[in-house]
Amino acid sequence: MRPRQPVSTFETHEVTNQPPPLPEYNLFDSDLILRQAVEREGASWAAGKARAFGAVLGTERVVGLARAANRFPPELRSFDRFGHRIDEVEHHPAYHELMALAKAHEVHSIAWTAPQPGGHLAHMALEYLLVQAEAGVCCPITMTYASMPVMIRDPSIAAEWKPRIIAPAYDPRFIPAAEKTAVTIGMAMTEKQGGSDVRTNATVAIPLGTAGDFELTGHKWFCSAPMSDAFLTLAQTSSGLSCFLVPRWRPDGTRNPFHIQRLKDKLGDRSNASSEIEYRQTRGRLIGEEGQGIRVIIDMVHHTRLDTALAAAGLMRQAVVQAVHHTTHRMAFGRLLHEQPLMRNVLADLIVEWVAATMLAARVARSFDESALSPAAALFSRIGVAVSKYWINKRLPGHVCEALECLGGSGYVEDSVMPRLYRQAPLNSIWEGSGNVICLDVLRTLRKEPAAVEVLFAEVNSARGADRRLDAAIDRLKGSLHASLDQEIHARRIAEHIAVVLQGVLLVRHAPAPVADAFCASRLDDGRCGSYGALPAGLAFDEIIELARISA
Ligand SMILES: Cc1cc2nc3c(=O)[nH]c(=O)nc-3n(C[C@H](O)[C@H](O)[C@H](O)COP(=O)(O)OP(=O)(O)OC[C@H]3O[C@@H](n4cnc5c(N)ncnc54)[C@H](O)[C@@H]3O)c2cc1C
Repeated sequence: MRPRQPVSTFETHEVTNQPPPLPEYNLFDSDLILRQAVEREGASWAAGKARAFGAVLGTERVVGLARAANRFPPELRSFDRFGHRIDEVEHHPAYHELMALAKAHEVHSIAWTAPQPGGHLAHMALEYLLVQAEAGVCCPITMTYASMPVMIRDPSIAAEWKPRIIAPAYDPRFIPAAEKTAVTIGMAMTEKQGGSDVRTNATVAIPLGTAGDFELTGHKWFCSAPMSDAFLTLAQTSSGLSCFLVPRWRPDGTRNPFHIQRLKDKLGDRSNASSEIEYRQTRGRLIGEEGQGIRVIIDMVHHTRLDTALAAAGLMRQAVVQAVHHTTHRMAFGRLLHEQPLMRNVLADLIVEWVAATMLAARVARSFDESALSPAAALFSRIGVAVSKYWINKRLPGHVCEALECLGGSGYVEDSVMPRLYRQAPLNSIWEGSGNVICLDVLRTLRKEPAAVEVLFAEVNSARGADRRLDAAIDRLKGSLHASLDQEIHARRIAEHIAVVLQGVLLVRHAPAPVADAFCASRLDDGRCGSYGALPAGLAFDEIIELARISA
């Protein structure tokens, strides 16, 4: 064969067998599982809002903003040009635009302003969409959302801050909150000597003359989004660990000492600033009773945990969309990848995992909506949010890694979105309760509150008789709770077992039949295989894979 002539002096080859770019698409409309969950779990009124947000997030414009916000991470400006200490962080304009978009679409506020029941589910849907476009902005959005139950404990704090927290606007100016119509809220608990065990916090708070006003001195080892307007923080008073609201400006309009020592050089989450800070006679306002700080801030932690679970489901969704798109257009050995039996197995298995994660996150969000009126729902939300945070996040890094591999070498390159998803994947397993701590929490709740076990089994028994594999798994769960609740060493095993059974229940009752079948065939046995792509033969692979296909 004669060598082919180059097309021009500068070209060595024609580009073939590369997929086209993913077209612009509506992240909500294209996601059958999310749409059904929003309807089923009680927020159908929010579908229009989610649809509008999904349309914007799927545009080229937003894809470009997310890329820029991560390529040009925030920078610390400790001093101004004249040498005055300013402790400000400068973000790329793309970050601000994404924050403004998230706030305009009420991701942070819908749970508290919802016109009908279902606000937390609506929040779940919006944040799940947002994380697919850009995960870094989810941190300040989540903290602002989750701060509300703590902020409204004190009527005067609520009157001052609530209208600014729920405002669908974004004001990044570094000026006193009283001069702004919209604010964001952060949290500062973790110190060098202890993050999980916050009882070791060493920051001290000394009372000032006026009731509720204190001066805080100490360090915080992790404080994300340090340009937030105020922070819920823990510090020791003479009565013990207490919760404070620390604004970045004092009531007299001067800067509250809030010394940002450095920004963390993080694995991922790069568009979002995380910092180490020091309080030096920093003004703070007590929230709740002195000495009850953990009980007060736990409300924020509880709501943050919902987001850490749902965000993992959102990242899985983005991963399967990318994997199916690539393999639909890429050929190897004379056949499109998505037609190759083993690739179909991998894709289907990844999709089953994402569906299970999304349905569980939505079910848990509904329990948040029902908690105010139902103690049983409140108990379910406590167990449900913990096991879903634990399990979905444990499945996520392997999931993203496998989806990345579906793109071959291109998946390892920054031009694809996959490296960003991969770097983000481990974060939410650590933040707000790392794996072991969460599982021990689940064990403690089940041990101390027998009603929690009843609530759990009321939920799982709703699917009894629908699938014999699930029935067997429910029986095994009953046995292991009976035998192992007092054994810390089994805490992960128990949390995983609860999560998988809950997912099985939801899938058998509500998922497309091929997904439920694949889940029961692959996830419920104790001796199941660890890697993705080992589903048994004979499942309805086509129907499963269609769930993640974006059409032009
Ligand atoms: C990107 C990022 C942003 C963050 N932002 C914030 C923020 O804004 N505000 C804030 O307050 N914190 C923040 N954090 C801190 C985070 O919440 C803590 O890192 C987390 O709570 C774990 O605490 P630690 O790092 O001290 O780990 P440790 O508490 O030392 O835990 C280390 C390991 O030991 C395990 N462990 C702990 N206790 C037990 C036990 N009894 N039995 C078995 N295993 C155990 C844990 O599960 C973990 O795996 C952030 C962290 C990251 C990575």
